[in-house]
Amino acid sequence: MKNYKNALTHPIFKVISEAAEELQVESYVIGGFVRDYILKRGEAKDIDIVAVGSGIQLAKKVTELLPGKPKVKVFKNFGTAMLRSNDIEIEFVGARKESYRQDSRKPIVEDGSLQDDQNRRDFTINALALSLNDKTFGDLLDPFDGLTDLEKKVIRTPLDPDITYSDDPLRMLRAIRFATQLNFKIEKESLKAISRNNKRIKIISKERITDELHKIMLAETPSTGFALLHKTGLLKLILPELTALEGIDEIEGQRHKDNFWHTLEVVDNISENTDDLWLRWAALLHDIGKAPTKKFHKKIGWTFHGHEFVGAKMVFRLFKRLRMPLNDKMKYVQKLVLMSSRPIAIVDKDVTDSAVRRLIFDAGEDIEDLMILCEADITTKNPKRFRKYHNNFKVVREKMKEVEERDQVRNFQPPVSGEEIMETFNIKPSREIGIIKETIKEAILEGEIPNEYEAARELMLKKGKELGLEVSTQ
Ligand code: ATP
Ligand code: MG
Repeated sequence: MKNYKNALTHPIFKVISEAAEELQVESYVIGGFVRDYILKRGEAKDIDIVAVGSGIQLAKKVTELLPGKPKVKVFKNFGTAMLRSNDIEIEFVGARKESYRQDSRKPIVEDGSLQDDQNRRDFTINALALSLNDKTFGDLLDPFDGLTDLEKKVIRTPLDPDITYSDDPLRMLRAIRFATQLNFKIEKESLKAISRNNKRIKIISKERITDELHKIMLAETPSTGFALLHKTGLLKLILPELTALEGIDEIEGQRHKDNFWHTLEVVDNISENTDDLWLRWAALLHDIGKAPTKKFHKKIGWTFHGHEFVGAKMVFRLFKRLRMPLNDKMKYVQKLVLMSSRPIAIVDKDVTDSAVRRLIFDAGEDIEDLMILCEADITTKNPKRFRKYHNNFKVVREKMKEVEERDQVRNFQPPVSGEEIMETFNIKPSREIGIIKETIKEAILEGEIPNEYEAARELMLKKGKELGLEVSTQ
């Protein structure tokens, strides 16, 4: 029997062991903690404990033995309890046996043995348990040879995969998520079972689905997960906007690139430069408007006219459907999608000051993220072009620095306020004020006047005169 006492040096394990002894129940640490210890993924911050008996009672006993008696949170409906001790979160559950119905991922639960409990776990690598019982402290209980799967880097279900995935279809996403996070392969039969059962994903709540998508998105190489979602047919059910980008059309010898596989490359690229979840989402969605806007023109070939605008609208509907937040995060993703072609449009022509000033003005605080997105968007395999495109953006960045130092339009505040305009001409809130403000802003962005008070005031007086306003003498 393999022993992993060394995994259990944290003092909390001795306390749990003693508490279990007092209650005369067996206890084990199970799942992610054991898996991550063996994989040397660094000590986990959450620990799952199984008691062969009541998990809630064990939690209560543990807290009695801990200094400061931390509060136990009891989830009666689930038969679980949680407590936080210093830096770690410990979840207690009684060993259970589960059976499932067709229409729900909520099982019928009854008390069971440790083995029953291991049977209900999703993957062999998540069913590993270490004994906390006095005589066998640290012994590994591994009924499905999860240890070998850890060595071979394989995701496999303890029982028949068709049953495991059909019982709780969330496990399909978990399989893909773990494969992505850990860089593991999903065993062949498992992968086939996911494809066969993919439609069952419809009984899973949107929140759970997006939780897993976020975790895939935050992995080192998110494309691994999206490729697996695609291969198993899940992606089409969850994010049809993305699968709609797949394929290359050819008319009269003119082809466009496959925007689905291109998108996955962009997401991997951007992940090398940012851990920001929403910037990564923006990369995933930056081209979704291309499917509905695709057209072929005899003279110019394929176009995706207005895809950024259409794509930004699709972002809202997609977030809403997946119950993602419809707050500033959504607006941020929309904005980046909407602006995703702007820096490229600039380098197509001469990089003029006014074009750069407008870009900074429109992007505001998000200008740096937008540049990161555009650089990640370069996926050409032609090394000459690759260098050229990156170089173009370097020129834009240098110009941006220059313009921003001089004109400071990033957080543009009108140098003449609406109040000053009203006082100057002795007028009430009216259309004219808007016109004057817009004229000043445009003149600054076009570089006709500097972003300074004196120049702006002068232009205000001139424009006011044109509009037939008189300067107040009061
Ligand atoms: P991480 O915390 O890194 O996401 P984890 O393995 O700890 O990984 P949790 O979601 O915290 O995952 O779940 C803890 C354990 O509970 C898992 O290791 C697994 O044994 C079990 N488990 C979680 N979700 C399921 C599920 N849907 N079906 C079966 N077992 C599950
Ligand atoms: Mg966990």
